[in-house]
Amino acid sequence: MARALPTLDEPDLEIALLRKSVGSLTAGRLSCRDCGRTPLVGERMYRFKRHGSVCALCRPLRDAEPDAVELVRHFERGHTVRRIVPSAA
Ligand SMILES: [Zn+2]
Repeated sequence: MARALPTLDEPDLEIALLRKSVGSLTAGRLSCRDCGRTPLVGERMYRFKRHGSVCALCRPLRDAEPDAVELVRHFERGHTVRRIVPSAA
């Protein structure tokens, strides 16, 4: 006797695809450890070894000096085509 397999109807499939795409968008994204906000391009993130990275708005809430300050770059940085100017030898 054939076993009935679970199936997705159209609205369930749409929701599943939406959740999957949103999950993949947020997977590699920086976020502030305190407020969870995604920093803007050009904004500075303050990295603390013990507490993770926080945004510029949450930085004043911490007394310790950050271990590193990082500039948030556009996600295409390093993947764009660059013009190479030959050097005069
Ligand atoms: Zn924050």
